Amino acid sequence: MKYDVSEVGEIEINTIVFDLNGTLQVQGSIPEGVRERLAKLRELGFSLVFFTGDARGNAHEIAEELGIEFRKCVNGAEKEAAMSDFDKETTAAIGNARIDIGTFRNAKLAIGTLQAEGIHTGILKHIDVLVPSINDALDFFLDEAAFKATMRT
Ligand SMILES: [Mg+2]
Repeated sequence: MKYDVSEVGEIEINTIVFDLNGTLQVQGSIPEGVRERLAKLRELGFSLVFFTGDARGNAHEIAEELGIEFRKCVNGAEKEAAMSDFDKETTAAIGNARIDIGTFRNAKLAIGTLQAEGIHTGILKHIDVLVPSINDALDFFLDEAAFKATMRT
């Protein structure tokens, strides 16, 4: 999807990479409303993928439930390396912790989600936008006006 941002120019985002724990999943469960928003993003043509070490052993289940693919990445270096499969210029990343820094570095746009699990302050300099919840992060891409208002200069 292309966002025409005032004084910045066009920002095109086609892929969104998610962290799982503390991001897509909060305290072990997927917040209400996430599945529907992911479906809307898919309909709009976004490619969606999450990176996880699969510590809870349920990544396959979650991927199936949400209808999105995942990559197994056990640490920050693996997450960073996995980003090379995506075009940095058109990929956004959403996460909450220091393990996501490599993901953020290789994304055009990085979003931090606060939620109940919190956010590590060490990642603040690597994120562009901080939102309270995963649903707000997903709405950021669905609501063109909000995207443009936050990203403009
Ligand atoms: Mg996390």
